[in-house]
Amino acid sequence: MLRKDRLFTPGPAAMLPSAQMAMAAAGMHHRTPEFKALFSKTLADLKEFIGTKNDVIILSSTGTGAMESAVTNLTSPGDAVLVLSAGKFGERWTSIAKTYGCKPEVVSKPYGQTFDLEEVREALTKTPSPKCVYMQANETSTGARHNVQGVAGLVKEANTAGNDTLLVVDAITGLGTTHFDVDGWGIDVIVGGSQKALMIPPGLAYLAVSEAAWKRMDTATTPRFYFDLRKERKSQAKGETAYTAATALVAGMSNALDYIRCMGMGDLRAGTVALIDSAELCAAMTRAAATALGLPLFSAGNPGAAATAIVAPEGVDSGAIVKALREQFGMVVANGQGDEMKGKLFRVAHLGYYDYLDTIGLAGAMELVVAKVTGKPLQAGVAVKAAQEVYAAAHAQKAGA
Ligand SMILES: *Cc1c(COP(=O)(O)O)cnc(C)c1O
Repeated sequence: MLRKDRLFTPGPAAMLPSAQMAMAAAGMHHRTPEFKALFSKTLADLKEFIGTKNDVIILSSTGTGAMESAVTNLTSPGDAVLVLSAGKFGERWTSIAKTYGCKPEVVSKPYGQTFDLEEVREALTKTPSPKCVYMQANETSTGARHNVQGVAGLVKEANTAGNDTLLVVDAITGLGTTHFDVDGWGIDVIVGGSQKALMIPPGLAYLAVSEAAWKRMDTATTPRFYFDLRKERKSQAKGETAYTAATALVAGMSNALDYIRCMGMGDLRAGTVALIDSAELCAAMTRAAATALGLPLFSAGNPGAAATAIVAPEGVDSGAIVKALREQFGMVVANGQGDEMKGKLFRVAHLGYYDYLDTIGLAGAMELVVAKVTGKPLQAGVAVKAAQEVYAAAHAQKAGA
């Protein structure tokens, strides 16, 4: 049977067709009025997408580059920092911090779980107090959602009591799948990446930076060159980048933001809310489908809407499910990340250009694939039915509201 390729991995995610056209057409030089106008509009749109009044910076790199910039620009060697870690991306914060000579205190939880706020509160009161807290909004390796609002409240409380702590959130898969009140909660730096909910290829990272974080950069002494945010701020205020801009990716990003604006009938913020609600609903449908088939959820207690991590049936390598979904149906999902999770679970993303039909298609394919890999009878319609019921209930609620 014919197979359409469908990219359901938690980055890169499916591309928006109109953004692909915009990228192909973008041949302008980066020091022209034409590009400056496009770049300035994209920065302004990103502010609305993120939901912040803080300055937004675009970097030519994948998300990790922006994460690194949030360490090098905000710390000095020897600084105490606090890392909240419960997965592969949490571990990345620890590695970056150590690379640049910070002394990370790590509050860690087993994969699939989230943090105990009391432990975070305690870690914030230690001396010396942390200069930064680094966390994920969504830990993409486990599918967990962390309580950014809760942690932000604790950081605020600790700062009132005399701390000088900045909150840095890796929301690379959080933005576009999760509601944040960046300025209200007091997130000092929030990081995103182009290949997730913004529906374009890897290659751009972006971050919103608070006044307190900009101020920190005046005293932070960790070496930085390409990712010097103050240099970028100066250039980007004029619609330019410090070095050559990734012109085609910026054109694609601008197109994707226009698409989200259309989802909101001309209001980009409303479109962003619709995009997030869509991801939440697709994730809820997927959780119901997996559960109906008897497949446990890996982050059952605190699942996010960016990606759903599903545990393979007893005695089955999750790689066999990943392979069957790809070979039989053209659906590309991700295996578990790292030695600890590979073979045990598979991950389906609900990022950006991902819809009802993708979700229903996956539910149907899972029924067939689970029967195949377990040798058990086909549970035809079981996962689809569960997903449909979640959709119908959400729709009825909306109509009643
Ligand atoms: C994708 C992702 C990253 C960034 O990875 P890159 O490969 O550098 O783009 C970081 N954190 C999370 C939570 C992610 O999902």
